[in-house]
Amino acid sequence: MTNVKTSSLGFPRIGLNREWKKSLEAYWKGNKERETFLNEMDKQFVAALKTQVDQQIDIVPVSDFTFYDHVLDAAVMFNWIPERFKHINDPLDTYFAMARGTKEAVSCEMTKWFNTNYHYIVPEYEKNAQYRLTKNKPLEDYRRAKEALGIETKPVILGLYTFVALAKGYEKQDIKGIYESLIPLYIQLLKELEEEGVKWVQIDEPALVTASPGEVAAAKDIYQAITAEVSGLNILLQTYFDSVDAYEELISFPVEGIGLDFVHDKGKNLEQVKAHGFPKDKVLAAGILDGRNIWKANLGERLDWITELIGELGVREVWIQPSNSLLHVPVAKHPDEQLAGDLLNGLSFAKEKLSELSLLKEGLVSGKAAVKEQIDAANGHLEALKQFGTAANTAFAEERNRLTEEDFKRVTPFEERLRIQNESLGLPILPTTTIGSFPQTAEVRSARQKWRKKEWSDEQYESFIKTETKKWIDIQEEIGLDVLVHGEFERTDMVEYFGEKLGGFAFTKYAWVQSYGSRCVRPPVIYGDVEFKEPMTVKETVYAQSLTSKHVKGMLTGPVTILNWSFARYDLPRKEIAFQIAHALRKEVEALEKAGIQIIQVDEPALREGLPLKERDWDEYLSWAAEAFRLSTSSVKDTTQIHTHMCYSNFEDIVDTIEDLDADVITIEHSRSHGGFLDYLAKHPYLKGLGLGVYDIHSPRVPPTEEMLSIIQDALNVCPADRFWVNPDCGLKTRQPEETIAALKNMVEAAKQARDQLAQTV
Ligand code: GLN
Ligand code: ZN
Repeated sequence: MTNVKTSSLGFPRIGLNREWKKSLEAYWKGNKERETFLNEMDKQFVAALKTQVDQQIDIVPVSDFTFYDHVLDAAVMFNWIPERFKHINDPLDTYFAMARGTKEAVSCEMTKWFNTNYHYIVPEYEKNAQYRLTKNKPLEDYRRAKEALGIETKPVILGLYTFVALAKGYEKQDIKGIYESLIPLYIQLLKELEEEGVKWVQIDEPALVTASPGEVAAAKDIYQAITAEVSGLNILLQTYFDSVDAYEELISFPVEGIGLDFVHDKGKNLEQVKAHGFPKDKVLAAGILDGRNIWKANLGERLDWITELIGELGVREVWIQPSNSLLHVPVAKHPDEQLAGDLLNGLSFAKEKLSELSLLKEGLVSGKAAVKEQIDAANGHLEALKQFGTAANTAFAEERNRLTEEDFKRVTPFEERLRIQNESLGLPILPTTTIGSFPQTAEVRSARQKWRKKEWSDEQYESFIKTETKKWIDIQEEIGLDVLVHGEFERTDMVEYFGEKLGGFAFTKYAWVQSYGSRCVRPPVIYGDVEFKEPMTVKETVYAQSLTSKHVKGMLTGPVTILNWSFARYDLPRKEIAFQIAHALRKEVEALEKAGIQIIQVDEPALREGLPLKERDWDEYLSWAAEAFRLSTSSVKDTTQIHTHMCYSNFEDIVDTIEDLDADVITIEHSRSHGGFLDYLAKHPYLKGLGLGVYDIHSPRVPPTEEMLSIIQDALNVCPADRFWVNPDCGLKTRQPEETIAALKNMVEAAKQARDQLAQTV
């Protein structure tokens, strides 16, 4: 008989009402005493545990809770404190300085946590640093949980292999030495836990899912070295976000339990468990509920699934758990959340997911009949949700069936289009443009607030937006830009704006998730078939166009970006959802064209971040991503120029996809890329329209003309001049008006000088 327990891998830190964020920000501003702040943090730490205990979770994690980020916690614990922060004596000040920077020291870099929208602080390796254990946070947290709630908990620790994989500042050949310097620290950390009488620790090793067989073997050596010294402690080696290819090696690690994600593994983990079995003496921690989506699970199906697996494996003990830390979903359904009943009933956030697990456990222990009522109720909710989501757009299914290959491509080849557009658009060589947004000043934000709170009427708000648009059209004319934009003053967020206008999307008031540090986001919820209802950007664009004889570029967010920054339904493949969004955007593109707009930009800044973790899955994703983009943009006339924009540099790895988008022009971030990409372009010429960002928009600094001119000159060594564009790296939404104007003037001047030089050379 297999023993069954419920377990949680991690819980959101932010609190139901974002108490965590509020405490942190007040403390940073100096509006809160340290003692008050620490007390509040402690309360929130305990509250998160209590919520999990209340859902009857048998094995509750500790030390996943943090004051900023769990990777930063690990770095600080091992004294991976970069030299530039060493002058700060107080540990808490040091911690926040690394996260947020100070006047003297720039913050540590932040980057995406695997393929999620959470961002962690990148540990920095420094060669001659003294690494040691500065404190034992898991132990402190374990004690505190026991004291506050009288419970045994499972400390969570970021694994050594993953910690190093996420760090920077070393060469490949240093890696062995780094492992060796860290192994004693992990041993010390775990020994202290062992001495305390801790039963289980969860060591997170998500990086194993992208590791090569050789790397998995190296990781095994690490665990051999560690466990040789710590024998009285049970270690659960936890993987998530995908399958581990070297499964047989993984199950031979000298640990007492292995955690596998059976949700995001594309069926691979199950396949391997079935093919190779699972060691009878180890605990299998089975991730069976999706820890990244927000939907109620099909509990009947899940119960059958896990019942069958347990029956087949005959292991001693199984922990059923979410696929990964619940950090990536909102805390719980808020009592004041106002959503349609059928939608609300279909949702399941962190707290609700844990109670689903408890129900599954009951079904396993007492038999399916014992939980039949709850399973039926959940099924009813899912059925109602489906009805609710698909009733709105009955047309799409039919339209989808009618789509043919022709709908996914532009008829005329690029070179021919370029010739036609050059004639009809009448632009100078090296045309100048911006990426779309102009400064969202305090005034703009407060206007929107007033309108949202109904202090301002629609007319008042619209007239404000018009005034702002006109102001910036005049400014752009005055600066001498060639292709103008309306400025995006009506948009807070490039996804929310479209989601609010399309069918099939819902917006919550309280469903926040942590993005990085204290920053939280509320991703839109795609619950049903996406539907175009009415033009979304035509009014603003046409108004802007009416004010100038230059071309105003229409500005849309692309289908892949809208999908990647939303919580999507799970009953359709992502590709199909992307196609639905694309199909709706196609109508918007057509509406803009019909209204006389000749240049339309469809932004895809999130296309690359949607890449699957395993390279072998890239092609499939990239090919439908490109198809979705083309579905949204390919119905236009040859005279209509399609632009796209992505904000990252060095896109060597997806350059084929960029090509495949078949956009007439792509503008990308470039100013900080130090020429690496130009070297690439020298070898692999890019022959469609290309705008390499000539200035960094992340900083208030106004780059001098010469600097931008030299970027243009370098680029023209490898890019054909007749299709090269001059633009900033990205939108200017976060900049101040004065610096924006000054920088753009220099940019336009740089383009002029470059044109003069070109004229002289021919
Ligand atoms: N058009 C958007 C803007 O300028 C693009 C933003 C982005 O790339 N993230 O703000
Ligand atoms: Zn951008």
